[in-house]
Amino acid sequence: MRETFLSFSPPTVGEQEISAVSEVLRTAWITTGPRTAQFEREFAAFLGASGALALNSCTAALHTALVTLGIGPGDEVITTPMTFAASVNVIEHVGARPVLVDVQPDTLNIDPARIEPALTQRTRAILPVHYAGHPVDLDSIDELARIHRLVVLEDAAHALPSRYRGRHIGTGDRLVAFSFYATKNLTTAEGGMLTGPRDWLEQAKVISLHGMSRDAWKRYEKGGNWFYEVVTPGFKYNMTDIQAALGLVQLHRLSGFQARRRAIVAQYQEAFSRSDVLQCPTERSDVESAWHLYVLRLRTETLRISRDSFIQELAKRNIGTSVHFIPIHAHPYYREKYGWKPMDFPVAYGNYERLVSLPLHPGLTDRDIQDIVEAVWDVADCFKR
Ligand SMILES: *Cc1c(COP(=O)(O)O)cnc(C)c1O
Repeated sequence: MRETFLSFSPPTVGEQEISAVSEVLRTAWITTGPRTAQFEREFAAFLGASGALALNSCTAALHTALVTLGIGPGDEVITTPMTFAASVNVIEHVGARPVLVDVQPDTLNIDPARIEPALTQRTRAILPVHYAGHPVDLDSIDELARIHRLVVLEDAAHALPSRYRGRHIGTGDRLVAFSFYATKNLTTAEGGMLTGPRDWLEQAKVISLHGMSRDAWKRYEKGGNWFYEVVTPGFKYNMTDIQAALGLVQLHRLSGFQARRRAIVAQYQEAFSRSDVLQCPTERSDVESAWHLYVLRLRTETLRISRDSFIQELAKRNIGTSVHFIPIHAHPYYREKYGWKPMDFPVAYGNYERLVSLPLHPGLTDRDIQDIVEAVWDVADCFKR
């Protein structure tokens, strides 16, 4: 058995990141400035997006996007129960109503076939989430949006870099929000990015920084001007140059990170596909997943223990795991406000009780993978019916 505890998702940060951050700290400008502008340019170029706006989280990016799109009280936004709370909290922040639509059994992504029955006169937007990095069925969602005149705002917190039918997520004609939280595929400790059409990003930029009509840092440049105007009561969501410096190094390393992620996934698939107790995640043929998460599903009917005990048994064997996600409708705030019952979204809830996310990050060694595989097989064998 493994001697030391293997934590679920430490960041992959090294000397290059440390020196890039130190370099910024030695300059006279540490908050939003030239590094942030460079990160936006390089991020947009990497994806092939028309533009990018760096912010201090994906939550901030989603909130800013909803405000930019003019979504507010009286509006309904269609989204998925199988996501992190932030995707839905932001709908509450703007005073709109989240309308949950159950997920597809293979990808656990929002099921386009269930969206139409959930539409009302008040529906304004669809907020899909690319769960675990596997793109949602965007063509079907776009078709619905076109017919019913809805906007689409993508939560791409897991989807850097994912491809749908050959194109990167984040390159379409709409707003897409990415996360650089500590556990994500690219990290700036905390951070986020909004990609999309330039005119929308211009508006989003004003909304994300106090509603001011020009950048603070440009005001202090040579030839800059002290004058600004507040055109809306905006938020304080800007990214710092310290974060951007970290992000630039991570962006240069991203392709290497992704190659390692895919190699680990291949080892997991090889190791677990022949088990009757485990169901492996899949990747549809028309997409490329960013493989943010490797989510196993337990065939609980073949086991004598629950998912929770399975996780405890792995922890006893020094393997850290997690669960993505407790469905939105199971959280007290949402359950109580909207009167949702667990089985209102049976695919999401039924699968929730079987999910286990295994460690998946570029810092895992072949030895770590071997330990994880052995521990999972050991628990599966010990507690098989
Ligand atoms: C991490 C995450 C977010 C929030 O990202 P932050 O950058 O921490 O705000 C939003 N949605 C999903 C699906 C996430 O996993």
